[in-house]
Amino acid sequence: MTNPLLKHFNDPFDNESGLPVPNREINTSRVKRHTGVITSLEKLTHDTFELTVTYDGIGFVEAQAGQYGILEVEGIDKPRAYSFAKAPCLENPNEVTFFIRLVPGGEMSNWLVQPNRVGQKVIVGGPMGKFRLDKSDKTIVCIAGGSGMSAINAIVEQAASRKLERDCFFFYGARAQEDLYLLAEMEAIAAQWHPDYKFTFVPVLSEEPDHTDWHGARGLVTQYFKENFLDTNKIDITNMKAFFCGPPAMIDHGALILKAAGLDEDDIGYDKFEDARSPAPVINNSKCTVCDECLLVKPVANCIVESSMFSYRETGITSLQRVSPGQTSGAYYNTLVINSDECIRCYACIDACPHDAISPTNDLIQKTLRVSAV
Ligand SMILES: Cc1cc2nc3c(=O)[nH]c(=O)nc-3n(C[C@H](O)[C@H](O)[C@H](O)COP(=O)(O)OP(=O)(O)OC[C@H]3O[C@@H](n4cnc5c(N)ncnc54)[C@H](O)[C@@H]3O)c2cc1C
Ligand code: SF4
Ligand code: SF4
Repeated sequence: MTNPLLKHFNDPFDNESGLPVPNREINTSRVKRHTGVITSLEKLTHDTFELTVTYDGIGFVEAQAGQYGILEVEGIDKPRAYSFAKAPCLENPNEVTFFIRLVPGGEMSNWLVQPNRVGQKVIVGGPMGKFRLDKSDKTIVCIAGGSGMSAINAIVEQAASRKLERDCFFFYGARAQEDLYLLAEMEAIAAQWHPDYKFTFVPVLSEEPDHTDWHGARGLVTQYFKENFLDTNKIDITNMKAFFCGPPAMIDHGALILKAAGLDEDDIGYDKFEDARSPAPVINNSKCTVCDECLLVKPVANCIVESSMFSYRETGITSLQRVSPGQTSGAYYNTLVINSDECIRCYACIDACPHDAISPTNDLIQKTLRVSAV
């Protein structure tokens, strides 16, 4: 819902000065926007779909396994982030694949999985994110849940096709057998893995009824991994890299377990599926050096704006004057503000900031040198 106090973020004219506000489109070399069409849509489970987009081929930038794209479609005002679900080396030319989980009441996911979507135009922004395979020879430990299969599938496909000389354990969390998919593909990856190393896929079900034919692992995927592989030293904590993908709660729990066991934060990588329920990040302007890195990756035009002045109450920002070159004084004012109404929670700006100035846990009252409390 739009916050009426922040309405002026999106107005073409500044609400206080009446000056025109520059239309800062996505003017960056880091986030390319590719037009394409949906060329196939297939059901993977009762609520998860494989969607393929074919680009028109112009300016195509190949992603790395683990990265994500920003999908825009006509009629939905905000784009959403979706991870690339196949290793780029295995995609058809100019094609990208996504795994989309249908979120009850979710605007974009419901739009995407309608049967008549094949042939519809979409725009894919990206590639985004720093989540990808590292170059070490440490054991790869992947933990994914739900449609978090996407980025991890891309990563293990890439590792298998490059015949990496590393062991790999992939723990996949789902509710029940009906939520499992890509089982045959995981067997194919195991067969394709470097012959001197091992790929182990472990599906873990949290809500499978007792009296079924399921004889595999049960419980919460992160807890199962801890009790059966970490605590029993089947995986050596001193020689592993963790790759998480999926729901934020699963990733936070997994990271907590690994840190408590002594794994360095640098050895934990993740692709968190933040969504509309996640908090928008906040910029701490006393740390910000106005290096522009966040502005270069932002996937929507007005999620981060340059302001020359703003006021706040405890409830948040009450008025804001946007920078208008040649109109407001000075070019830059050391005051960047995130508009939580425009933000799609992709957290790309957090990844991009070299000064650790952006975080969803920063105070909601923006820290700046030019702010007045009213
Ligand atoms: C980096 C990144 C990568 C992502 N990759 C993928 C991917 O590969 N596949 C994928 O399916 N999704 C992925 N997501 C999530 C995706 O961006 C959307 O948030 C998701 O599809 C919901 O969008 P929506 O428009 O359908 O729901 P919205 O219209 O945004 O939300 C509608 C309602 O549903 C609630 N809601 C939103 N998400 C969920 C949820 N997961 N469960 C329960 N309720 C929810 C909201 O609070 C809201 O009330 C990724 C997110 C990020 C940040
Ligand atoms: S998380 Fe950052 S980059 Fe992503 S939409 Fe929000 S403000 Fe923009
Ligand atoms: S990336 Fe960080 S330091 Fe650079 S402009 Fe954005 S908030 Fe400021």
